[in-house]
Amino acid sequence: FFASVEMAPGDPILGLTETYLADTRPGKINLGVGIYVDEQGHVPLLRTVHEVELGLASAAKPRGYLPIDGLPAYNQLTQQLLFGAGSPLLEAGRVATAQTIGGSAALRVGADLLRQVAGAGAKIAISNPSWGNHHVVFRTAGFELLEYRYYDPSSHGLDLAGMLEDLGKLEPGTVVLLHACCHNPTGVDLDAVQWQQVIALLQERKLLPFIDIAYQGFDQGIAADATAIRLLAASGIEAFVVANSYSKSFSLYGERVGALSMVGADRDEAARLLSKIKQTIRTNYSSPAAHGASLVAGVLGSSELRGRWEQELGEMRTRIHAMRAGLVERLAAHGAPDFGFIQGQAGMFSYSGLSKAQVLRLREEHAIYALDSGRICVAALNRANLDTVAAAVAAVTR
Ligand code: PMP
Repeated sequence: FFASVEMAPGDPILGLTETYLADTRPGKINLGVGIYVDEQGHVPLLRTVHEVELGLASAAKPRGYLPIDGLPAYNQLTQQLLFGAGSPLLEAGRVATAQTIGGSAALRVGADLLRQVAGAGAKIAISNPSWGNHHVVFRTAGFELLEYRYYDPSSHGLDLAGMLEDLGKLEPGTVVLLHACCHNPTGVDLDAVQWQQVIALLQERKLLPFIDIAYQGFDQGIAADATAIRLLAASGIEAFVVANSYSKSFSLYGERVGALSMVGADRDEAARLLSKIKQTIRTNYSSPAAHGASLVAGVLGSSELRGRWEQELGEMRTRIHAMRAGLVERLAAHGAPDFGFIQGQAGMFSYSGLSKAQVLRLREEHAIYALDSGRICVAALNRANLDTVAAAVAAVTR
């Protein structure tokens, strides 16, 4: 039955972690990870999350199914976090939101539904580069993949002119996948003025924006990191889609908490969209898991806990900023070429500009692991390893 099944290719990031774990050299450092770790190198358990969890455990509630579209309070609070409390879109009932199994399922459910609406000629444009799962999720859902220019290796920044030129050539109806903030893998984001330019073009060319927001609060804060969503909402664009994840902002990776929000032209359209989202979920995994969503809803639903959660989020953000500044300073102290651009990048990741050969030397000569693309996870840095990393990077780039 299964004799003809071939081995599927492994995940390159997880493969790197396996090599790292097998490395017996003391003092090895893994900058290839995709999660936030604290100063001690641990995935944090947020105090606010823990508090809600203790309350849930002592309440000893039975474990029935959630509705197909998830916990109602979670969906409502998610809408407020993304669009802003009092958003006219929410007041008009134009947003259909369903809890999903992480941001990944939000992308997949959205992809399946859009493919159904667009039919056989469905196309999506993805930034070059982007998170690897974007390509496979939309390809598997039946989309033709296109790319738009995004990262400019010479400036280590945004290629806005290239981006606008490529988006301007897309056929009307093409879906455009955009990272709201903390672009994975480059760390290069658009500012508000650049978003306005991109949004005007999306509107003019009748393109469908699909926003992926997996790091809300990791760069500037809740509202500022949702600038793309808030500007889209204010632009008058009739339809757009948002996939969000709480994996990072609540440090709830394994609980798989995310949501899909689809904005329609009016209340009636949103109701039809929600019915289709539910149908897509029903035929995939039936309904989402309860625990993580109860934790998020418990925190966001209490103004006191929400305030303290924002402080905890702020602590993670501040540490990331400090590590960026520290790395740039230490690199300069070790006589490396100018890496000042790292401080201008946002979120957990940085396209360091290191070549594949330099990444390989870091691994072989210094037991420091980064992705072949040069992507490093800034959150994997801490005061204890910063200087070692900087000295090694300086050695392979001099
Ligand atoms: N989008 C991007 C850009 C991501 O980096 C990630 C997580 N690596 C996700 C979506 C998915 O997040 P989740 O773990 O919640 O599925």
